[in-house]
Amino acid sequence: MKTTFSKIVTGSFIAIAAMTMSSCEKDLSNSENMRYASIIDVAGDGTTSVMHSNMQQAFVETAALTETELASLVKIKDEEKLARDVYAALYQKWASPVFSRITNAENNHLSAINLLLAYYGSSDTLIGEVGVFTNAEVQALYNNLVSAGSTTIEDAYKTGALIEEMDINDLQNVIATTSNANITMVMENLERGSRNHLRAFNKQLVTLGITYVPTYISQSAYDQIVNSSIEKGKNYMMQGNGKGHGKGKGKMRNGNGDGSCNN
Ligand code: ZN
Ligand code: ZN
Repeated sequence: MKTTFSKIVTGSFIAIAAMTMSSCEKDLSNSENMRYASIIDVAGDGTTSVMHSNMQQAFVETAALTETELASLVKIKDEEKLARDVYAALYQKWASPVFSRITNAENNHLSAINLLLAYYGSSDTLIGEVGVFTNAEVQALYNNLVSAGSTTIEDAYKTGALIEEMDINDLQNVIATTSNANITMVMENLERGSRNHLRAFNKQLVTLGITYVPTYISQSAYDQIVNSSIEKGKNYMMQGNGKGHGKGKGKMRNGNGDGSCNN
């Protein structure tokens, strides 16, 4: 009798354990606990912004930044500010809505780079005044681009296309020289954004009957971009472990997020 009771009790424990396990296993494959999401938001006109929280949740653990990677990110940061500030100036000049929308997107890209730098503990996150750059070369480029885009509205859109194709080229160079998964992810999405912005400026030029000739990328690469549709982002696994943002802020990778499934 006692033996039977003990068997029943032991049996129930096993059954409960099995139930608990299967509910955990279910949680592990639950789409809510294994969330995949895009890190960019793409508007109908191609304006592309990084969803910062998703980007941070998609970060994976990597080695620290190398000197080269840090220098590349600072350069890209300067380019995002350059794009933002030139478009802001061209919006002041021409009041074409495409410039104001893309100015906001570039401001968002600039913050994305800063969040990536901050993730690695870098303090190179200062953003100077609008139109002011510490790097003399970038300052000269800014002055030239604003002046080139201020002649006619056609020249303004051409300046937009030039900035975007320059960004595409430089982002590709960064991707080619890093093995850091977070840098690659952010650069690939910024490049997607630049391709969408290039499509947006090209559309304006086509409407005005202008054929743009690229400087930084090949004609075939340019044609391939402008003759294809606006791109949405690809999905990344949301890890919920953005350093310095607290575990548990995002969806946890497994279990119920309260440790109940950890054996
Ligand atoms: Zn950008
Ligand atoms: Zn852009």
